[in-house]
Amino acid sequence: MKLPPLSYQRPTDLREASLMLGSESMPAVLAGGQSIIPALRFGERSESSLVDISRLAELQGITHADGFLRIGAGVPMWEVCGSPEVATSAPLLIRVLGSVGAVGIRSRATLGGSLAWADSTSQLPSTLIVLNAQVETTERILDAADLQIGQHQTVLRRGELIVSIQIPEVELTGSGFHLIRKTHITWPVVGAVAVREPSGQLRLVVFGAAPTPILAVGADRAKLLSQLSSRILPFDDERARAGYRGQVAPILAGRALDEAIGSNT
Ligand SMILES: Cc1cc2nc3c(=O)[nH]c(=O)nc-3n(C[C@H](O)[C@H](O)[C@H](O)COP(=O)(O)OP(=O)(O)OC[C@H]3O[C@@H](n4cnc5c(N)ncnc54)[C@H](O)[C@@H]3O)c2cc1C
Repeated sequence: MKLPPLSYQRPTDLREASLMLGSESMPAVLAGGQSIIPALRFGERSESSLVDISRLAELQGITHADGFLRIGAGVPMWEVCGSPEVATSAPLLIRVLGSVGAVGIRSRATLGGSLAWADSTSQLPSTLIVLNAQVETTERILDAADLQIGQHQTVLRRGELIVSIQIPEVELTGSGFHLIRKTHITWPVVGAVAVREPSGQLRLVVFGAAPTPILAVGADRAKLLSQLSSRILPFDDERARAGYRGQVAPILAGRALDEAIGSNT
């Protein structure tokens, strides 16, 4: 399907972007365009104007500051994957990003766009949650775990933009990541990501098994899996049935935990 006619604006800084986004025409944000453009094309979204934030300098850059790795919300995934800072401080993020779509998607899609799109089957928000990341917006700092409240629903207010993602620079003693998808470049059906902190504490996040990522924290593998089982709320979509998701999610969670417990990264 063809894109409907759209008006287009490109702000020069965040302040101007916020003004444009607050306008009565209720424009959509354009970052990497890998989700919003298909949604407009297929009539799943109906905005008639776009505010392009992809060149805002305030949303770029990967730096270390105050014990955090700070990644600009507008940094494309491919740039994150090639960053020596990320390779040192958050190698799990690079591993997970390597599984998002194909290279062409990753060359444009941004971390901020993925968080704001809030698809419950996406592996990226769950990875930022498992890494205990914070999300800096134009209005506040949020825990990544508090951002999404439903499928494609976040706590972001109208005109509020994600500015950066801040990942604590903790040397993890293990990590694990497992997912199921139909082909190597399609969206996940269901998956799990886990880390082991230096204290021995485990953090587990399961995606694609409820309308929001499911986070469980604790030192005991069996207790984490039992916490998880009461929180799985699987759903049907074009990729899988709820029953399948409900059966597979605990298995992938167990594998991610085993890998985190047994690995050294
Ligand atoms: C074929 C294909 C396969 C894919 N496979 C996967 C996959 O396996 N896993 C996965 O996780 N994703 C996958 N994606 C989605 C991809 O990761 C998306 O591009 C991403 O989710 C959105 O990022 P974007 O920068 O393209 O955002 P855009 O599409 O530009 O924006 C999406 C929406 O996010 C909001 N937004 C964007 N940036 C900000 C910001 N800084 N602050 C506030 N709101 C903002 C806006 O509401 C905007 O309308 C796939 C996409 C395609 C087309």
